[in-house]
Amino acid sequence: MTSDMLEAEITQERKLVTEIPGPRSREIHERRQRVIPPGVHTVFPVYIDRAHDSIVVDVDGNQLIDVCGGIGVTTIGHTDEAVVAAAREQVGKVTHTLFTMNAYEPYVRVAELLAEHVPGDGEYKTLLMNSGAEAVENGVKIARKFTGRPGVAVLEHAYHGRTMLTSSMNHKGAPYALGYGPRAGDIYRAPNSHPLHDGLTGEEAAKRTIKYLEKTAGASDLACLVVEPIQGEGGFVVPADGYLPALAAWCKENGIVFIADEVQAGMARTGTMFSIEQFGVQPDIVLSAKGIAGGLPLAGITGRAEIMDKSMPGGLGGTFGGNPVSCAAAVAVFERIESLGLLAEAKRIEQTFGGALRELQGEFDAIAEVRGKGAMLAIEIVKPGTLEPDADRVNAIIDYAGKQGVILLSAGLYGEAIRFLPSLKMSDELLLDVASVLREAFAATA
Ligand SMILES: *Cc1c(COP(=O)(O)O)cnc(C)c1O
Repeated sequence: MTSDMLEAEITQERKLVTEIPGPRSREIHERRQRVIPPGVHTVFPVYIDRAHDSIVVDVDGNQLIDVCGGIGVTTIGHTDEAVVAAAREQVGKVTHTLFTMNAYEPYVRVAELLAEHVPGDGEYKTLLMNSGAEAVENGVKIARKFTGRPGVAVLEHAYHGRTMLTSSMNHKGAPYALGYGPRAGDIYRAPNSHPLHDGLTGEEAAKRTIKYLEKTAGASDLACLVVEPIQGEGGFVVPADGYLPALAAWCKENGIVFIADEVQAGMARTGTMFSIEQFGVQPDIVLSAKGIAGGLPLAGITGRAEIMDKSMPGGLGGTFGGNPVSCAAAVAVFERIESLGLLAEAKRIEQTFGGALRELQGEFDAIAEVRGKGAMLAIEIVKPGTLEPDADRVNAIIDYAGKQGVILLSAGLYGEAIRFLPSLKMSDELLLDVASVLREAFAATA
């Protein structure tokens, strides 16, 4: 059987043939315990054999609805036909030269596409790397070189990766930084805007953030402010109107590089190519990764030319950065977002699934808020009548849904949210199936 036949075989429906996880998954999971350390934790130990669009098929033959997408990576669906074709073709031509040794066109094409799509006037240049954390690392590095300053400002509830620098930038100590110290220095974590909990307007929240940073770091010591326009791991926190523009204006006045970490929220996920477009801000540097290459590892650091040009030749790069196969896949992703009208699909999902979630909110008072944009939606779950996080309920609901063949993931500093990252191709029918499983899960865990 060819893999094309396998792809065609996967129907877009939930279908369980064993309990979840099934016997074959459990067997592999047992083998895994002996050779893979527990630090590489798998949230949902079902072993996947193949996938297409919104459905993953496990090694026992169960078809599960993927509402996580490897945390927003398979934004245009698993094994998108154009991405698979582009990657296959590139694999047969050349898989590696090292761009900083001998170059190839797909890297240049991805840089052109990013320059075209990041919100901002003027000239933009791109460095390609392999992962979101590498994008953040390089964004900070480039901002420091440009400004000649050391300080890095981040926000509460932020997540930026698991390398030494980025794990020090995350809000959560455990599990990302705890015991791995010393943590990187010159990082200042300021209060963010979290409308459900702080009750502040965007302007008030921005004042608080700025005051904090001026008192702790001092604006003149800051190289950059790194912001997720919609916080991912933090629980899909959408800042109040006016918050991000006020921060961007303050950065501009003080020569601080404004870096938008769009690793989770970018690449069409929220209904615009980059989520920050919806806040009317033109960042100095935009970081992309996760969804950019349809499942292949790639990350972009795209910044104003004058900032990017400060690094000396050889100062930026890495062996695998901007791998030709990943680049070919990314070119196909940009093409598919356009040709399949996926920005509009993100809006459709916001309507259909956001609507279904709000209906659930009306039925279950444990849902304190439905928030997010496009196909980046979350619910915050609390002890009814309070704003106290209820992580146990979150975990029970996710566990229940998993056993029914719906892959969900939690989020939030206190594990208080369930996040939904469906592929932009997920049909209304599948989305409503997810909502009905959620309804059962809420009822079963009351
Ligand atoms: C996932 C994520 C990262 C880290 O990306 P990796 O590819 O896992 O290194 C950084 N920033 C944000 C906002 C993310 O969601």
